[in-house]
Amino acid sequence: MADKDYYEVLGVSRDASAEDIKKAYRRLAMKYHPDRNPGDETAKEKFEEVGEAYAVLSDSQKRAAYDRFGKQGLNGAAGGPDMGGMGGMNGADIFGSVFGDIFGDMFRGQGATGHAGPQAYQGEDLQYELSISLEEAASGVKPEIRVPVWETCGTCHGTGCRPGTSKTRCPHCGGRGTVRMSQGFFAVEQTCPNCHGTGEVIKDPCPDCGGTGHVRKTKTLQVNIPAGIDNGQRIRLSGMGGPGVNGGASGDLYVVVHVKQHEIFRRDGANLYVDQPISFALAALGGELSVPSLTGESKITIPEGTQTGQVFRLRGKGVKSLRTGAMGDLYCRVYVETPVNLTSTQKKLLREFSDAVSSNEAKHSPKRQGFLDRVKKLFSD
Ligand SMILES: [Zn+2]
Ligand SMILES: [Zn+2]
Repeated sequence: MADKDYYEVLGVSRDASAEDIKKAYRRLAMKYHPDRNPGDETAKEKFEEVGEAYAVLSDSQKRAAYDRFGKQGLNGAAGGPDMGGMGGMNGADIFGSVFGDIFGDMFRGQGATGHAGPQAYQGEDLQYELSISLEEAASGVKPEIRVPVWETCGTCHGTGCRPGTSKTRCPHCGGRGTVRMSQGFFAVEQTCPNCHGTGEVIKDPCPDCGGTGHVRKTKTLQVNIPAGIDNGQRIRLSGMGGPGVNGGASGDLYVVVHVKQHEIFRRDGANLYVDQPISFALAALGGELSVPSLTGESKITIPEGTQTGQVFRLRGKGVKSLRTGAMGDLYCRVYVETPVNLTSTQKKLLREFSDAVSSNEAKHSPKRQGFLDRVKKLFSD
């Protein structure tokens, strides 16, 4: 709403009384309230616009600044404090504070609770790093993990005060929970930094919880890691994080899964890859090859004349896809291992074999023959 005039937004004249502005705002806020216009983006935008306009025009100091300097007067360009965030209030907050108890029950959720009382904060989210094997990732696993939990302190029963003492009025804000900060021609209401809006402070903190009202314990939780989980994915355990403040909800616990590198298999999504050495004779003659998978060995038949680097696919021998539920494949790439540590008899046999095939290289070693032809051509040009 960068260019919209706040008076126009509320449909009032520039000399409208505070009462007129309030009336106009009530009428428009009721009309555009999101609960009355579910899913209507235009109404939502209008609702926010009238909230913003009202936030300025209902405050005599902000209104005076706006009248003199326009929005420039509100965003700090004229030397005032930054008003861009409206002191943390949005349309819904303002709605609640204007209608308060009168219409409080009319709308569920937002706006109905107003802005009174200490601010509630959601507890912090926690992260737990869990290392599992590739086999566990493939089959799913239900490990028990030990995580910190916060319980209401038994010594102070959650008050945070040393037994026999109680909270006292915050000296910084006089118990109001807010302080007025004056800067230039503005005065801004801010949550009291000393008591965080509660209006009370703990003078003599509970020795067992340090005044927080919570004590940290350790709890054993069983986590359900589904089959197919991949490295870096996380499981959210709702409400198992840090405790909320002033009645705020607890944070969440995230279990971040690290799948350890496997000695044999590489994984890419639902597929597994394995490099497998085979003997020179098997590669030449073809035959049965035992290929390992996560669930055991599978026998495949490789054709005669198999070359290094040839890949064989074993359908459904990969890992289950978390997204589709389908099984991935296993790709076995073979490479020919040159025989080593041969006895003299074996060497003799191999020489005889070599002599037998040398008479027709083009037939038995077509790649080598082709290569030699290209080399010959290179030097004859
Ligand atoms: Zn305590
Ligand atoms: Zn205070």
